[in-house]
Amino acid sequence: MYGAIEAGGTKFVCAVGNDRGDIIDEAQFPTTVPDETMKEVISFFQKHHVKAIGIGSFGPIEVNKDHADYGSITSTPKLTWANYPIVDVMKEMFDVPIGFNTDVNAAALGESFTGAAKGLDSCLYITVGTGIGAGAVVNGSLLQGWSHPEMGHILVRRHPEDPYEGTCPYHKDCLEGLAAGPAIERRWEKKGIELADKQEVWEMEAFYLAQAIMQYMLILSPKRIVMGGGVMKQKQLFPLVRKQVATLLNGYISLPELETFIVPPGLGDHAGITGALMLAKNEVEK
Ligand code: ADP
Ligand code: ZN
Repeated sequence: MYGAIEAGGTKFVCAVGNDRGDIIDEAQFPTTVPDETMKEVISFFQKHHVKAIGIGSFGPIEVNKDHADYGSITSTPKLTWANYPIVDVMKEMFDVPIGFNTDVNAAALGESFTGAAKGLDSCLYITVGTGIGAGAVVNGSLLQGWSHPEMGHILVRRHPEDPYEGTCPYHKDCLEGLAAGPAIERRWEKKGIELADKQEVWEMEAFYLAQAIMQYMLILSPKRIVMGGGVMKQKQLFPLVRKQVATLLNGYISLPELETFIVPPGLGDHAGITGALMLAKNEVEK
């Protein structure tokens, strides 16, 4: 059995499962302050015997094992979690290998193992929720270099009819600043879910997301793009995004069938936790 943690800004999901990605037990705890949340996490794993634990975490996080603060959540706006050494804390309690990566990298791994990108050696998983992030599987491994990718903070062209300044505290009008859930909410002064029937909202959203996808395709050439997160629950976005991706690329590269290329998660809301299980498995197999 392996253990998995999906560490999110609003909740922590803990699970125990096997090497095929089947989840046997699962629990959720609200993300409050580290002492409180981690106490719940630790007592969950004390009830199970696992041979490794995988953590998919909100971030930014330090994933480079050569760096002194490897295994920490670094500069999160959730201040009590900034510089929190989550891997060390788990290691102190459980003497097993610990895999550690971003929540979106974990989700990409999960989707490529048993989800919408099953059987493919490359894919991209994008979440459009409170923030925007993406994880990439390339040649069967997670893409990582100096650090992990932060694909939500790329720059995009502004929609000619969009005066909204953007929500990103670092860049204002980067992709996340213009297209994550909170940007939709502030621009249109209503929650995304209440804007379901407003065509102009989703046209503009697709305008931004398609630009990002064009760039990810041109740089990484993934074999499939899986889009999840709260905002993508607006299913009408999928055809709009596909259409704008085709328009933007304008015939320059040969395109796969977009209907099966840009898709919702096969694992639904379980992509991240399943991927965290795979992080644990990979850590043992390393
Ligand atoms: P998180 O990113 O915190 O893990 P979510 O992926 O659920 O959580 O993203 C939350 C964001 O998505 C919020 O800004 C919320 O308004 C938006 N959102 C959630 N559900 C929907 C929906 N059905 N339609 C449109 N927007 C949604
Ligand atoms: Zn940004």
